[in-house]
Amino acid sequence: MDNNIAERLSSAYRQMAEIQQKNPAFASSAQLIAVSKTKPGLMVQQAYVAGQKAFGENYVQELVQKATELAHLPDLEWHFIGPIQSNKTRDIARFAHWVHSIDRLKIAGRLSAQRPATMAPLKLLIQVNISAEDSKAGVLPADVLPLARQISTLAQVQLCGLMAIPAPAVNHDNSQAFAAMQALSKALQQEFPQANQLSMGMSDDWQQALTFGATMIRLGTAIFGARETQLYE
Ligand SMILES: *Cc1c(COP(=O)(O)O)cnc(C)c1O
Repeated sequence: MDNNIAERLSSAYRQMAEIQQKNPAFASSAQLIAVSKTKPGLMVQQAYVAGQKAFGENYVQELVQKATELAHLPDLEWHFIGPIQSNKTRDIARFAHWVHSIDRLKIAGRLSAQRPATMAPLKLLIQVNISAEDSKAGVLPADVLPLARQISTLAQVQLCGLMAIPAPAVNHDNSQAFAAMQALSKALQQEFPQANQLSMGMSDDWQQALTFGATMIRLGTAIFGARETQLYE
């Protein structure tokens, strides 16, 4: 048993509570997503035993493998946060509860069509290329509302908000990108009040993200330790 996982989780939750006390912008519903990519199902189970329910995965085959292996654990919630190829949507539609990385209508449409009718609508976040990098996935800020309107017509998915991975910043200061996301999220909620989730902040910058209204932070290294493998990255 790796006690470090439980310790790292409780330390992160303790820090979240401290940030909440000091920051008016803190979203009281803020949720920690433990990013378990490249880590074995056993480590997910250890985090679960420590009370963690929401996990993030980047690779479809890993999502399917761990969700199947851990299907006996009640209330496990899988967040798919990686790039999506259209030939992989069927497995995501069946195994994920949330998808953070929607950047085109085609993918959202396939997920809606492939989401089993017996399951609740799949919850989607639009990924925003907030630093306007050529290499990064995500839509440009100006394209968020048009895409949101198209997604809102789909039956078996539910638009819940926005996600971003800012470009690595000097001194981990992503305040500009986080502020831009916060403004974009408010603009989206003018038209879609229920799309109020804002997924931003990773192991290096999550404390700052929370002060800009993040409702979901995605922590990998901070919970599970460094990823040795470069297998997928
Ligand atoms: C890997 C990953 C994370 C977690 O990264 P850490 O720096 O290890 O916390 C969060 N979000 C996305 C989209 C990722 O790919």
